[in-house]
Amino acid sequence: MRKDLFHGGLVPSAKSPVSSSSPGVARPAGLSLLPLETLSPEMTRRVFVNRHLRMDHIEVIGFDMDYTLALYNQPKLEALSADCTIDKMIARRGYPEALRALPYDARRAIRGLVVDRDRGNLLKMDRYGYVGRAYHGTQVLSRGERRKLYREQLVRILPTHYAWLDTLFALPEAVLYAQLVDHYEKDAAFLALPGDQKKEKYSQIWADIRESIDEAHRDDSIKRVIKADPGQYIVFDPDLPATLHRFRSAGKRLFLLTNSGLDYTQAVMSFLLDKRLSGYASWRSYFDVIVVDAKKPSFFTEQAPLLQLDADGKAVGEIDGKKAASRGRLCQGGNVQALDRLLGLRGDRVLYVGDHIYGDMYRAKRASVWRTAMIIQELEAEIQNQKRVEAELQMLEALERRRHRLEADLRYNRLLWRTVIEQGHEDAQLPLFGAHTGSDVEKQTGEEVQADLRKHSDALRVRLRETDDDMDRLEQDIEQAFNPFWGPLLKAAAENSRFGQQVEDFACVYTSRVSNFLQYAPFQHFRSPRDHLPHERVY
Ligand code: IMP
Ligand code: MG
Repeated sequence: MRKDLFHGGLVPSAKSPVSSSSPGVARPAGLSLLPLETLSPEMTRRVFVNRHLRMDHIEVIGFDMDYTLALYNQPKLEALSADCTIDKMIARRGYPEALRALPYDARRAIRGLVVDRDRGNLLKMDRYGYVGRAYHGTQVLSRGERRKLYREQLVRILPTHYAWLDTLFALPEAVLYAQLVDHYEKDAAFLALPGDQKKEKYSQIWADIRESIDEAHRDDSIKRVIKADPGQYIVFDPDLPATLHRFRSAGKRLFLLTNSGLDYTQAVMSFLLDKRLSGYASWRSYFDVIVVDAKKPSFFTEQAPLLQLDADGKAVGEIDGKKAASRGRLCQGGNVQALDRLLGLRGDRVLYVGDHIYGDMYRAKRASVWRTAMIIQELEAEIQNQKRVEAELQMLEALERRRHRLEADLRYNRLLWRTVIEQGHEDAQLPLFGAHTGSDVEKQTGEEVQADLRKHSDALRVRLRETDDDMDRLEQDIEQAFNPFWGPLLKAAAENSRFGQQVEDFACVYTSRVSNFLQYAPFQHFRSPRDHLPHERVY
């Protein structure tokens, strides 16, 4: 792909004007268009639009760092996080050495899952909170068990009893939890405990994992290893510098807003951006303002002071918002209003790019009028998987239509049956009856008509059951193509998953990586597809 020529679409041509153009719109002579297909990035690298976004209206673009500018090698980071967490569980919290031998299966957790801390369960919910899949440890819960726990009683998802997996950093917590629940389910002493003590234990296990991984993030156990060899853990994106440069050349100002501390930010950003483009002395020169230790989500809800840092990372006082920001200005902490003042921001002229559905997307939307772009690292695999099951999805739609028809036929048959019973078959108005049963109604007795109807209904029911079974099998195959335990990330059966719905609600646009923006003009008008309510759909 000729990226250098791609974005504007127009390239000077030695040839005469090309003829293919929009109807009724003459193209300037001497210019030819690149082939249209090059204007449409491949599916996995597209920017998807929930809400219209006009890039020419955007003056400032802010970036989160971890899992946004810096994508991680997920299997490696998960293994590292799990190891550091287990070390702390054994050393500080008295867990057995046997923990190290438990097989870590990364497929056991995806983003958006809910942890039922009191019961040792992991749940996947759809947008309505319906629990379509659940595991106790790694043991699947049957439909009946799910119903009993999460349907027959009102479930309020309070943080004291439940935890959301909102970020890719959190996946190891859920996998370790499932493993530990399994481990204790094999322990005779644990099994002998009464129900409420079991509940306490499950909850304690979760709290221990949470605190251990939290500590591992904060005390440098994880970061020390990454800093020593960033290439092992961070995905190197060759297009990232050009993407940021393109925004800057289009007159946009950029800022970085990360919860990471300065030394880690320095290590990661330097790995991604230093010595890449002339005109940029270091990673810092890509940004007008750099905010580290931002403490999102409270950055959006509280009023911590925005501190100026010197080159060594020492705080040298609060920032006076009236001074214009010089390029690469280093700051710490702060809050959204202070940053707005420093950059002279007008809320809806800011695009904020992040990965955390709560700390980046939801809070930014609630506390400001910033527009939002969400980076979903899993999206490329999700789209590839979807492509693999395209034929099955079409088949599923055909089966859905068939079920619709069979159900309508069955309802009609029932109506006829009632009419025959109530009015007698000679008096009953049965305009379509003959067509349905293929019999000559006039010559039949009432019993014969009823028998015919019954036979026809039985046959319809058999076909309906077969169709349901086919659909179940197909749905399972489709889900299996994504994640064998949880199915797709953004869907739950026919609905959006809870996570998918949050993406739709809080991200104006979403894409798999920041450099995907390089494939669009910096003045692109991202348009969302037209919304359709069910009554507008043609079945
Ligand atoms: P950001 O995404 O650039 O804002 O940075 C996320 C930061 O949060 C990284 O420095 C992570 O190491 C850190 N982090 C992720 N999970 C935890 C946690 O559970 N406790 C403390 N820090 C965390
Ligand atoms: Mg992040």
